[in-house]
Amino acid sequence: MELHQLTIHELQELLRRQETSALEITRAIFARIRAVDGQIRAFITLTEEEALSQAREIDKQGEYGRIAGIPLGLKDNFCTRGVKTTCSSRMLENFVPIYDSTAAGKLFAEKGILAGKLNLDEFAMGSSTELSTFFPTCNPWDLTRVPGGSSGGSAAAVAADEVPFALGSDTGGSIRQPAAFCGVVGFKPTYGRVSRWGVVSYASSLDQVGTIAKDVRDCALVMNIISGKDPLDSTSVDLPVPDYAASLDGSVKGMKIAYPREYFKSGVDTNIQDTVKKALRKYEEMGAIVEEVSLPHSEYALPAYYLVSTAEASANLACYDGVRYGLRDFEADNVIDMFSRSRAEGFGDEVKRRIMLGSFALSSGYYDAYYLKALKVRRLIADDFSKVFADFDLIVSPTTPTVAFKIGEQIDDPLTLSMNDILTVPINMAGLPAMSIPCGFHEGMPIGMQLIGPAFAENTLFKAAFAFEQNTDFHSLRPALEVK
Ligand code: GLN
Repeated sequence: MELHQLTIHELQELLRRQETSALEITRAIFARIRAVDGQIRAFITLTEEEALSQAREIDKQGEYGRIAGIPLGLKDNFCTRGVKTTCSSRMLENFVPIYDSTAAGKLFAEKGILAGKLNLDEFAMGSSTELSTFFPTCNPWDLTRVPGGSSGGSAAAVAADEVPFALGSDTGGSIRQPAAFCGVVGFKPTYGRVSRWGVVSYASSLDQVGTIAKDVRDCALVMNIISGKDPLDSTSVDLPVPDYAASLDGSVKGMKIAYPREYFKSGVDTNIQDTVKKALRKYEEMGAIVEEVSLPHSEYALPAYYLVSTAEASANLACYDGVRYGLRDFEADNVIDMFSRSRAEGFGDEVKRRIMLGSFALSSGYYDAYYLKALKVRRLIADDFSKVFADFDLIVSPTTPTVAFKIGEQIDDPLTLSMNDILTVPINMAGLPAMSIPCGFHEGMPIGMQLIGPAFAENTLFKAAFAFEQNTDFHSLRPALEVK
């Protein structure tokens, strides 16, 4: 195995034994990026010079802490001090923040090394990374297919061994869906577990920061570092953060696992249904108790999500007015024209569509009929989950209804594109922790299994995911990429 192929914990072991250095690892990572990113196009910005000098500094100090000397990628909606943060939008094309987002800052404080910023759908709105203003990212398993989205750059970079791990954000599935499409592990914690401060907001009551990595242990290691209360984010929760890595004991004996009938229905590819059912049988063999349950309101999650998320987006994106941040149209001859021309030029079609839908749903006369109703549906969805968790430890479902689709196949059809999230969106509506782990293949493309837990039961997810990983080898398979 070469350095760029290793996981965080494998690299840490080598560092501990002094068999490699932060500099060697960082060089290997950039060599890999040079060799494959021309095909994948995961990165928007690379920070090679800074990374190499940081690596030298870490080696000089000779202390390898929790993440010291390990390169990482950040979705380009995480603010990074002195490094462009574009959100893949014309609006922020030249925006250089003066601070680090809390989650990224925690990794930097533990001496993680930033390799660069990763592509996404503009402002994290999308499911394929084709809605990046700059360029689409390709799926490392098949370059003619999408990597998923909106954290498509993060998932593709990890799957292509360009970085050992990356952070992403998940509002309706944007960590789990691309992780499933790219055959890697994606973890979205409970709402409030990780600070959102400094991550450019899409829909504040749904957004949550998480990680994409090569295996479950690595996800646990990263979550240990980034979780916890942040005084700068009042929605972050002041609860002790357990040692997630300590829950990886490989046992699911007696664990009660539910699978919701609504998540194994028409609309979900039967090959995917069968693969996840097979994984459930594996859990049974390992000593878990598996039963079917119902989450009857999940079918309303998608329309309700598109009201709640667009309503919040319309408010969050109001700050891009050409005055404070980002692009400004200097040609306009009065301030109102300047606002509207800056926004017209700065935002792409999908972002505009959502701002309009959100403003409409919030407007007087329609608020009760749309936004308020969506909030009521949201409550029903959350209640469905609570009822199941009164009797079960975990819920298991497919992560996506299909494997990764072809680039261009759905891009002109926003409705079809939104269907990619039918199995992930309900979890954000309920604020629960969930992850996607590789569990098989169809047409040579990876399939993801979604594990969903009760609020703040991240440990249960790690435990069950690790047990599955121990008994299978899907997570260790990597795409065969031509090295240029
Ligand atoms: N695909 C969903 C959307 O476009 C989810 C995006 C996300 O989780 N950021 O809203």
